Amino acid sequence: MANKSIRYGVSLRKREEAVVRQQKARYKCASCGKLAVRRQGTGIWHCYYCNATYAGGAYTFKTAAGEIVDKLLGRG
Ligand SMILES: [Zn+2]
Repeated sequence: MANKSIRYGVSLRKREEAVVRQQKARYKCASCGKLAVRRQGTGIWHCYYCNATYAGGAYTFKTAAGEIVDKLLGRG
């Protein structure tokens, strides 16, 4: 366990890179099927092709919690 703090630092940096990538990524719109959904604000995702707006995760379009909500609402 001597390397624990070092490993934590590396994984944290990788996670930050992944978050930035996901913030800039485009996601497939459930409404029009185009790869046109982008992050507009915290938890707000907007399709610039058909103007659909979605509530999603703070940094990624789909979250584990969001998928559970989808299933509960019968959308998944
Ligand atoms: Zn769309």
